[in-house]
Amino acid sequence: MKIHNTLTRKKEEFKPIKKDSVGLYTCGPTVYNYAHIGNLRTYVFEDILKRVLLYNGYNVKHIMNITDVGHLTSDEDEGEDKIDVAVQREQKTPQQIADFYTQAFKEDLSKLNILEPEIWCKATEHVSDMIKLIQKIEKNGYSYIGKNGNVYFDTSNFAGYGNLANLDFESLNTMARTEIDKDKKHPRDFVLWFSIKGSKFKGHILKWTSPWGEGWPGWHIECSAMSMKYLGEHFDIHCGGVDHIPIHHTNEIAQSESATGKKWVNYWLHGEFLLMKEGKMAKSAGNFVTLKTLIDENYDPSAFRYMCLNTHYRKKMNFAFEGLDSAQNTLSTLIENIRILQEKQEGETRQGKVEDYKKKFLEVINDDLNMPKALDVIWKLIRDEKNISNQDKYGMLLDFDKVLGLGLGGIEEKLQIPQEISDLIQKREEYRKKKDWKKADEARKELLDKGFILQDTSTGTILKKNNK
Ligand code: AMP
Ligand code: ZN
Repeated sequence: MKIHNTLTRKKEEFKPIKKDSVGLYTCGPTVYNYAHIGNLRTYVFEDILKRVLLYNGYNVKHIMNITDVGHLTSDEDEGEDKIDVAVQREQKTPQQIADFYTQAFKEDLSKLNILEPEIWCKATEHVSDMIKLIQKIEKNGYSYIGKNGNVYFDTSNFAGYGNLANLDFESLNTMARTEIDKDKKHPRDFVLWFSIKGSKFKGHILKWTSPWGEGWPGWHIECSAMSMKYLGEHFDIHCGGVDHIPIHHTNEIAQSESATGKKWVNYWLHGEFLLMKEGKMAKSAGNFVTLKTLIDENYDPSAFRYMCLNTHYRKKMNFAFEGLDSAQNTLSTLIENIRILQEKQEGETRQGKVEDYKKKFLEVINDDLNMPKALDVIWKLIRDEKNISNQDKYGMLLDFDKVLGLGLGGIEEKLQIPQEISDLIQKREEYRKKKDWKKADEARKELLDKGFILQDTSTGTILKKNNK
């Protein structure tokens, strides 16, 4: 299995640290608002990675954090804590905010058929682990305390800082220093522990005692501490969106490796952005679409998943409703084909051809998760009328769906056909048998008015939901 490693900028053969099992950490949501579909694209990509690992026979130990403190409105140390912003906005407690948006996030994952991690970990429940990690960093000489009481990571001391992102330090260092926290020795240094004492964040509610006084942890230390707690000091794969490369993941590496003195993560995978016509989708810019927006517009969440599968995770994906319409129609056709295959389980098995398809599918998913090609394989399989029996097709499609996650196994629920619709279809069939084309057409038109499309194909009649 080959995956693209941001660390080396190459596609590499995946070699797990322990035979047969994989430690996977994916940066989770900051629970101060609903996830937007850009965020969800990243979680779909990570789910595909996990499913491909499982399909290859690995046991996957997947950890995802919930950031419920410490993530400022900029990914650097500027702005306010995002949770504080939501507390002001909604007049609730930080815990009520975090609980509400965590629940909403988990519901989104479930609707998108995203497998849950083996362990969820909340930042606020792991502050003592973060404090211990900061103490190690301090002991090894990689931190300093500013006049404001904050504990900073000293990046100039850490050889290899910024390798992940190929950072251009010259431009970073000459960046308008005036805009940067005056207590930092270098603009690129970052906060490990925010002190209440000298804090500019007046309304901050969450705080803990620490060797550096009362305060709260920085965002980056959360992921370092929680990933190492559950996966050990050296593990296989760490993921997130591309925006995390230059700051969040760069800082996570610096913290973790300066604490342990050894290499931390072997493979870094990053998902490209989802873009709107107006540019990058961002909550701060106010141009964000949620899964609920799509559901309210009568889209099936799996149509969004299909759309994500259709673009390679390392390519930017332009979101437009026309594209989602097309994904939804293609998905309906796929589901209908499966329904027909399920009903007409006939034809002889030709084992050799079955193996060819399985081999091709494995080859493309193992080539850096090439899902657009995997979709090509399934459409070729569906259209293959000569070589494959319906029974084999059906079995293979359900097997491939372990990776695609489109829920093809549960299609009865997906296309619930009301009784009056089944009766109309039946009536139309009878007219057709009697060659009463006029009445058959009227029945089809009535179906269309009730939101269903009937299409006659070489393999049978297909019923689709009309989403318009
Ligand atoms: P956040 O809750 O802001 O920490 O983001 C959650 C995940 O979504 C992170 O892995 C981000 O890198 C990713 N992300 C943020 N914006 C986008 C976007 N427009 N497209 C794809 N992924 C994104
Ligand atoms: Zn993280």
